Amino acid sequence: MKYVYLFGNGAADGTAKMKNTLGGKGANLAEMNHLGIPVPPGFTITTEVCSYYYDNDKKLPDSLDSQLKDALLQTENIMGSKFGDANDPLLVSIRSGARQSMPGMMETVLNVGLTSKTIPGLIEKTGNDRFVYDAYRRLIMMYADVVMEKAAGLEPESGVGIRHKLESLIEDHKSKNQYVNDTDLSGEDWKELSETFKDEIRSTLGAEFPDDPMEQLLGAITAVFQSWSGERAINYRKIENIPDEWGTAVNVQTMVFGNMGESSATGVAFTRNPATGEDKFFGEWLVNAQGEDVVAGLRTPNPLNEETKTEGTKDLPSLESSMPDIYSELKEIRGRLEKHYNDMQDIEFTIQEGKLWMLQTRVGKRNGSAATKMAVDMKKEGMIDKKTALLRVKPEQLDELLHPMLDSESEKGAPLLGKGLPAGPGGASGRVVFTADDAEQWHKNGEKVILIREETSPEDVHGMHAAEAILTAKGGMTSHAALVARGWGKCCIVGCSELQIDVNKKEVVIGESTISEGDWITMNGTEGKIYSGAVELIDADPDTHPEYKELMVWADEVRQLKIRTNAESPNDAKQAIKFGAEGIGLCRTEHMFFDEARILAIRKMIFADNEKDRRSAVMELLPYQKEDFMGILKAMEGMPVTIRLLDPPLHEFMSLSEDQEKSLADNLNIDVSTVKSRVSALHELNPMLGHRGCRLGIAYPEITEMQARAILEASAELTKSGVSVLPEIMIPLVGTVTEYVDQEKVIRKVARDVMKEYELELKFMVGTMIELPRACLTADEIAKHAEFFSFGTNDLTQTTFGFSRDDIGSFLPDYLDRSILPEDPFQSLDVNGVGKLVSMAVKLGRDVNEKIKIGICGEHGGDPASIHFCKENGLDYVSCSPFRVPIARLSAAQAEL
Ligand code: ADP
Ligand code: MG
Ligand code: MG
Repeated sequence: MKYVYLFGNGAADGTAKMKNTLGGKGANLAEMNHLGIPVPPGFTITTEVCSYYYDNDKKLPDSLDSQLKDALLQTENIMGSKFGDANDPLLVSIRSGARQSMPGMMETVLNVGLTSKTIPGLIEKTGNDRFVYDAYRRLIMMYADVVMEKAAGLEPESGVGIRHKLESLIEDHKSKNQYVNDTDLSGEDWKELSETFKDEIRSTLGAEFPDDPMEQLLGAITAVFQSWSGERAINYRKIENIPDEWGTAVNVQTMVFGNMGESSATGVAFTRNPATGEDKFFGEWLVNAQGEDVVAGLRTPNPLNEETKTEGTKDLPSLESSMPDIYSELKEIRGRLEKHYNDMQDIEFTIQEGKLWMLQTRVGKRNGSAATKMAVDMKKEGMIDKKTALLRVKPEQLDELLHPMLDSESEKGAPLLGKGLPAGPGGASGRVVFTADDAEQWHKNGEKVILIREETSPEDVHGMHAAEAILTAKGGMTSHAALVARGWGKCCIVGCSELQIDVNKKEVVIGESTISEGDWITMNGTEGKIYSGAVELIDADPDTHPEYKELMVWADEVRQLKIRTNAESPNDAKQAIKFGAEGIGLCRTEHMFFDEARILAIRKMIFADNEKDRRSAVMELLPYQKEDFMGILKAMEGMPVTIRLLDPPLHEFMSLSEDQEKSLADNLNIDVSTVKSRVSALHELNPMLGHRGCRLGIAYPEITEMQARAILEASAELTKSGVSVLPEIMIPLVGTVTEYVDQEKVIRKVARDVMKEYELELKFMVGTMIELPRACLTADEIAKHAEFFSFGTNDLTQTTFGFSRDDIGSFLPDYLDRSILPEDPFQSLDVNGVGKLVSMAVKLGRDVNEKIKIGICGEHGGDPASIHFCKENGLDYVSCSPFRVPIARLSAAQAEL
């Protein structure tokens, strides 16, 4: 079995296609060698070794040892130096790399191979003892943290781990010697600190930092495998839905040093701007620094080039002006990588004494707006075809384009607290919290929070997820906070150096103001501005985004499914049309009854003891209902509008206050006690399975009659005035064909009457909502009569599982945690169960009535995975809330590709 894949010197065993085996990082390091890009040589240990490790009681496969030694030898040959050699030692980094990138979740150890034996040789060779001891102290710190503490199963609370202790030793040393920056420390200082570090490790962890290079190497490799099952990594995989079985690969790579002096540097960059999508090379760098310094946000990084400088970075030196030759080489590599991968890349580079090395490339994370712009731009540049462009944007990402922004008028008057770097666009308001745990807790209690941190680290991810927005004092546009926020499309501001955070007191000073935990602030992540208080937010107008409009046109060309919306007011309907809706899939009518004046009529109807009184009570509602339907049908001019007849449990109309009981009694001329006893007689134990849906219309046909008349009279009047209308009258909660036929008869009779009265022919349909298992099982019987089916998958899920949708909160979290259910079936359609009923009903229905129109309303109509299911099962349309219409349009297009 081949466990180790070499790369270096323009050759490699692997390729970019081998992500499953080599992990993303390893596969792309190999690929860059094939492209002739300078990459420090090394080798990748496969993800299979990780699986082996977990399947075999944390042992490594026997044959790994010889493959590893062999690969090390080959790397030494390329470099002309030897691992552990006293005169010319080779140093390596041990880097994790899963199939899908998990930024900062997994571990990396740099400078492996420094020991009491190799240190003198390296000082001799480089003539730079400061560099060597700086590298050494970093190795000790990373190794202690990653290998000796975390991998050993000690997962201390954040802030008390060994890394933290060692960091405070540096601070002590600095203040003792009156140093300000890390750069003030000499080689002698770092040497002394290295010894102090080792003492601290000995006393805290009760173990010795290994002085043997091979022990360091194996320790670090094992620790990377071990980090796959670390708490942080597991949490991240849960959020991102990454399977536990994948495992990580390990890359062992020759070290190059960005910390060898003024002609050395390190940086990260994106081939295009990941926040806006602009075709501008964008990045950050630091002179005389190593590895994570840029991302860790300890020093404020410099901008890569002149054209991307901002207000905040205009006085900092760009790489373009400081090292022009290197910059143009890097820019050339940028072009080559984009051309090869045909996508925006996120790259890491290091400059060692004037020589450029590439350390990583991967497809860069981007927010929704940038994803859309890049997809459309790249299609126009001829890099990708339309199909690829459509697949480049995750439907959910469009949500961000529809996300709120600050209302610009209110923003003008808002008190500005300070400014930072605009890392994640959009607007957000929330109450301030200072720890990730608090963010999570407050969010659980229904609060909107903004998480403020000095800088974020992978330990904070759960809190970042819960927060509306993230604000940090340190770090740049490529910092951890920026990267994570971008991935989720969250509003984020980083590097706001004015922030003076006191986590213990739970307060922060910004300029003149002190903000305490729980205070409201508002952020404009597009411009990096922070305001006190809650500034008004407004919904974004996606029509102002030219690439979005273009992408949607392409989506509409491709998709077969029609997209409708669920709307009950003319305003919702207009909003949805703006987002591209082609009809209304569900117009509920119950809210139309809850108005003071109307509900009294309903109550009177319920209390009536003969048909005549009942009818006259209901008919009081006719003018109101007609007006409602006129509004909706007019807003949707010419498009189909599915109107569902009254559905909720009867008793919902009968929860009365003392006053209401009295006024109803007065109105009906009866005793309050009679009212009370009627109300209690109507009480139901299981209202969701009680007197609701078509059962109402069957008990009180006058309701159906009145509603049908309101719909059809509205249609007739609109038709007369030249507005074309297409109503579809939907009978809810049918379980037997006889229920359907009973109600259909009432509607058809009204239709004949109305058409005669208005002397015209009306185009309309009668159909049913399919939301009970029995309706699915007998769909052939129902389809002989119904002109359309609309799957009400909320109730269908409820009745198929026997889960009450309103009560799942008490057990669903356990179900998800323990993988009893893969996800909330009310959010994503349960394909195996509920889905089977749906496809059976479609087939049974179409077999007897091939023209029957079939759609889906309910939450699932806006869920991408469920939309794919609808496409595969031959539905005609999906219907979702107005704000999900664009998501549904793109999902429906992707379902065809
Ligand atoms: P992550 O997945 O968190 O980005 P990496 O493995 O990329 O972790 O490493 C962390 C940091 O160390 C990065 O900035 C990377 O560029 C740097 N680094 C890793 N290996 C080397 C190396 N061989 N030489 C120089 N720097 C390195
Ligand atoms: Mg790392
Ligand atoms: Mg990296």
